[in-house]
This record gives sequence, C-alpha cells and structure tokens, in this order.
Amino acid sequence: MKASPQAQLKLLELADLDAELGRLDHRRRALPESQEYERAQARNAELRDELATLEAQQSDLTRDQAKAERDVEQVRSRIERDRARLDAGLVSSPKELENLQSEIASLVRRQSDLEEVELEVMERLEEVSRSSTSVAGEQTTLAGQLEEIGARRDSALAEISEESGKASGRRAAIAAEIPADLLSLYDRLRAQHTVGAAALNRGRCEGCHLSLNTIDLSRIRAAPPDEVLRCEECRRILVRTELSS
Ligand SMILES: [Zn+2]
Repeated sequence: MKASPQAQLKLLELADLDAELGRLDHRRRALPESQEYERAQARNAELRDELATLEAQQSDLTRDQAKAERDVEQVRSRIERDRARLDAGLVSSPKELENLQSEIASLVRRQSDLEEVELEVMERLEEVSRSSTSVAGEQTTLAGQLEEIGARRDSALAEISEESGKASGRRAAIAAEIPADLLSLYDRLRAQHTVGAAALNRGRCEGCHLSLNTIDLSRIRAAPPDEVLRCEECRRILVRTELSS
C-alpha cells in the first residue's frame, strides 16, 4: 500500500486521539462517583428491606399486644365477678367457698402472668419502633447523600462527554484527511490490536516497544517514503518520523 508521508503521519495523530478516547471511555466506566452511587443505592435497598421487616414485626406485635390486653381484661373481669359473688354472700357452702377462693387465687396468678406477657410485648414493640425510627433516619440521610453523589457523578460524566465530544470531532477532521484504504487498514488493525499505527523511533516500534533488527531497519531505510510499512513483530502500521533514523 502507498500513502503520502503526510497521510501516514496523520495516523499517529489519529492513534493519539484514539488513545485519548479510550482513556475517556475507561474513566467513564470506572468513575468512582458511579461506584459510590451504586454502593449508596445498595445500602438504600438494604434499608428498605430492613424497614419492611420492622414494619411487619410492628404489625404482628401490635396484634399480639391487643390480644394480650384482651386476655388480661378477660381474667380481670372474671376475678371481679367471682369477688362480687363472694362479697354478696351468695356462696354459703364451705366447699363451694373454698373452690371460689382458690379459683380467685389462681386467676390472680394468671393475671400476673398475662400482664408479664403484655409488658414483654410492649417492650418489644418499643424496641422495634426505635429501630424503625433509626432506619428511617438513616434513609433520609442517605437520600440526601444519593442526591449529592448523583449530582457529582452527572457533572463528572458531563465533563467526560464534553472532552470525548471534542476528541471525536478532532478525530473526524483528521480521519477525513486520510485516504480511505489507509484509514480502513488502520481501523482494522486497531480493532485487532487496540493501537493501529505506531511511530518508528530510533529503530524501535512504539507499538510493541521492540527494537527492529538491522535487516528490517535497512529494508525500511531503503523503502520509498510513500510505502506503508508494517512492524514485523506486531503487524501495526509503522510510521516513519524525523526520529526514525
Ligand atoms: Zn511493533
């Protein structure tokens, strides 16, 4: 393939811009703000799950509390009924009296046990309620952080996009000055090796960083300036510059 030395030198400018575009793309993909945002979002999802679990516990405990209250109330009114019978003197037989007194004693013990249960449920409910408040508080803080991180991420992305847009514009302008067959060879090599063209600097290919042997070097020296050369090692287009010989 033949191409003017000027066109060949343009390939090096193109390679620089492609490297810059590659760096910008990498920066975009590895943006710390994006990772930070994802971590915050993951924490947010955890908090949402925690809150849902706590709300379910709260609703169960509220139901348990109502049941415990009903149980205590039931026993209390039975004790009252029994005591009323006792006080009204309606029980005359000593056997029946003894039974009633023993029932009252057992009901009082039962009431105390049930009140214990009720108290435990209430304590548990308070605990769950405190946890809910704390999780909800963390959620509010995190919502603010997400907004702040999101804004930083968006501004970093916008900056990268702007730089990328400028580099793409410059690349298009340079590509337009390169003959189609040379450009298509460059693009094909770039797809294979990431870098499509490299300078020959002081006998060394800047693509694979290997020094050319004397035979190759003398062949290159003998080649006409418009001949498109390839590195024997990496097959990239080898562009001669003023530093080449
Ligand atoms: Zn090479």
